[in-house]
Amino acid sequence: MKSPAVFLDRDGTINEEMGYINHLSRLVLLPGVPAAIRRLNQAGFKVVVVTNQSGAARGYFPFELVEEVHLLLRDLLAAEGAHLDAIYACLHHPGAGCSCRKPKPGLVLEALRDLDLDPDRSFLVGDRYRDIETGANAGVAGILVLTGYGRGENEYFARTAQVQPVHVADSLLDAAEWILRNHGENR
Ligand SMILES: [Mg+2]
Ligand SMILES: [Zn+2]
Repeated sequence: MKSPAVFLDRDGTINEEMGYINHLSRLVLLPGVPAAIRRLNQAGFKVVVVTNQSGAARGYFPFELVEEVHLLLRDLLAAEGAHLDAIYACLHHPGAGCSCRKPKPGLVLEALRDLDLDPDRSFLVGDRYRDIETGANAGVAGILVLTGYGRGENEYFARTAQVQPVHVADSLLDAAEWILRNHGENR
């Protein structure tokens, strides 16, 4: 049987939004994030990061740094008993016209196939309406978090956006608790 998943945006959802993460020292986890991911792990959801990382293609830092940041992210989470089932990153320049830069659904569609996931029982959590659109483009319900750009996004786009989140959460931990409370039977 296919597994349910929670797709996570990276910057502003898992770690502090501080522009390009061009050094390991700029990866700072948001409060409650390890606990949120641990609970989703324990409940049987696959946890998959989907992130746009165009900084290397723009020449701001080496491509290897993206992988180093993700190793550090996995280490920080492992220290608190949490794990990511996969990380999918779009490394392309925005002008490249790839099919994986969010809000295009390429990263999510690839993960759905690779990990045999059920979009109908899955969620995508992010701090931008672009993330909510990405989910919709892949047939996955979106949850907007108010960390990162979330508060501003909620204030300026909530009334006008074509695609709306199924829930607005204060943080990733709040989002995880909402998912488990309302859809814990998905597992
Ligand atoms: Mg973000
Ligand atoms: Zn791409």
